Amino acid sequence: MKASLLDYYRALRKHYGPQNWWPAESPFEVMVGAILAQNTSWENVERAIATLKVHDLLEPRRLHELDVDTLALAIRSSGTFRVKARRLKEFLRWYVAVHGADEARLRAMPAERLRQELLGLRGIGPETADAILLYALNVPTFVVDRYTYRMLARHGLVADTATYDEMKELFERALPRDPSLFNELHALIVRVGKDYCRATARCERCPLRRYLPGERSRES
Ligand code: SF4
Repeated sequence: MKASLLDYYRALRKHYGPQNWWPAESPFEVMVGAILAQNTSWENVERAIATLKVHDLLEPRRLHELDVDTLALAIRSSGTFRVKARRLKEFLRWYVAVHGADEARLRAMPAERLRQELLGLRGIGPETADAILLYALNVPTFVVDRYTYRMLARHGLVADTATYDEMKELFERALPRDPSLFNELHALIVRVGKDYCRATARCERCPLRRYLPGERSRES
């Protein structure tokens, strides 16, 4: 029988246990972290977040009022910090000046409209937008990243040319629309991607090995 994405989730969850994402003290910290996390390691993001906290800057209005050069220096450890400072300022203009830094108001908006507003901000692509929606606002939208693509393509679940939206829809069609399930599965895919599904796959001991196309036919 063909495995479903729910089977993948169960196998990963059994192997790794709960991942407890996102490691942050507030939804706003998740939003900032999602922008800082673009093209860098999580350790670098943590250092930048810690600097913001030390200077008591991890607060929407204070960060919004900060000039872009000072903000860039504060997030220096996150890599491409001048670009990220401009992106954060653009996000803060939207979050604070347009929506009053009001999470409840954002949660009450239709999810697709909210997503489109985020995608309309310079420097916010689908992965960052979906990470903010899911991990900061608990909106059931699936986050796709390079680990997701690698795993899906290697398992023959998408074409090599699959787009972000095609992969996102694959998960959203196959799974109950539950933000805690989406939260956990994305975190588990990142984990298996770092441990096993690297540039060179280490399928031998991977918890998803049984779902590889060749392995499935051997079992049946
Ligand atoms: S390492 Fe191999 S078995 Fe594991 S997810 Fe990647 S392709 Fe699948």
